[in-house]
Amino acid sequence: MTPRIRLAKPQADEAEVEAIRSVLASGILTNGPKTEEFERAFAELHEVPHAVALANGTVALAAMLLASDIGPGDEVIVPSMTFVSTATAVRHVGATPVFADIHADTFDLDPEDVARRITSRTKAVMVVHYGGQPADLPGLAALAEDRGILLLEDAAQAHGARLHGRYVGGWGRAAMFSFTPTKNITTGEGGIVTTADADVAERLRLLRNHGMTAPYRHEVLGFNWRLTELQAAMGVVQLGRLSGILATKRRNAERMAALLRETPGVRPPTVRDGAEHPFMLYTVLLDERVDRDAVLAELQEAGIEAKVYFPPVHRQPIFRDVAGAVRLDRTEDVARRMLSLPFHAALTDEELEFLAERLTRAVTARLQGAREDRSGGSGPDGRRARPASLADR
Ligand SMILES: *Cc1c(COP(=O)(O)O)cnc(C)c1O
Repeated sequence: MTPRIRLAKPQADEAEVEAIRSVLASGILTNGPKTEEFERAFAELHEVPHAVALANGTVALAAMLLASDIGPGDEVIVPSMTFVSTATAVRHVGATPVFADIHADTFDLDPEDVARRITSRTKAVMVVHYGGQPADLPGLAALAEDRGILLLEDAAQAHGARLHGRYVGGWGRAAMFSFTPTKNITTGEGGIVTTADADVAERLRLLRNHGMTAPYRHEVLGFNWRLTELQAAMGVVQLGRLSGILATKRRNAERMAALLRETPGVRPPTVRDGAEHPFMLYTVLLDERVDRDAVLAELQEAGIEAKVYFPPVHRQPIFRDVAGAVRLDRTEDVARRMLSLPFHAALTDEELEFLAERLTRAVTARLQGAREDRSGGSGPDGRRARPASLADR
């Protein structure tokens, strides 16, 4: 059954169709002027000198690492509260991901925990802008500079986001953005790397096009990681929609926060001081007494495609060798209590109210259940050992 409220709903209409049609009519389907136009527009919007478009966000991450000379023997510090590619890309280039803990309220890397994990092999820290909200960039930039490591941004979710008026995408050596359909703007598949470093940009262009420096002359080991002209043309139109989508989402986030204000046991997203949050995700944190998975199931039964973003990456079987013994208390606590609601830009006011009402209903029932459970079935004073929760300390 198709859920009544889908997680994502790409915003596209005749304008995208027309742009794609004209690319088809031109006969140039890859390696052409639309890719350049898309890159220029993206770079300009984010106020960075260069942007290089790639086939998807995951290969864009790998290209960004390769162009930053990261490879075997190097360590890259990453959060575990992210999509798996942040860490698999590090592996793909032969380096080792080192997982660090997050801030308990904004879910982005905690510079203090990152500092503790720096070794002589650490080459870079890759920050993730969780849900699109700019991470603790001043803190991480200062740390990276102080310790002589690179700052890289996984800005996959953060198109058009700013911190203290400054766009993400230009805080470190390079940054990656994704255009997969769950993101705020999409090209079906697609990625882009922004950088202020002309040399990095040049290397990215070589990597994506077989390392070709002149026709059929291959100077570096490259790939075919190109975006098609069809996707680039769609991307140009999508970029024009971005500010409208972000404005709608900010307004909807305010509405949602107001609707949930009286709901006990649900904490709406925390917005960092000075941050313009693009709300690619709308992630709430539930009271630790609430059975999150039961709430999730109830929402899904009501036709709401709610999800957990993200099950911790350091617990994935593929990282058992490097992270089997790693404990990230805040990441693990948050991962047990978090839940992301559908939050695409086409949600109606009625749908927002429906989401808030169903979430409130599900959480309230479970909070009451937890209370009755406690007064009935535990020790003489009705108390039960609470699971450790750093978020509450
Ligand atoms: C979406 C996403 C990616 C991967 O991008 P794709 O284009 O799907 O390959 C990487 N990191 C984060 C944080 C993401 O949200």
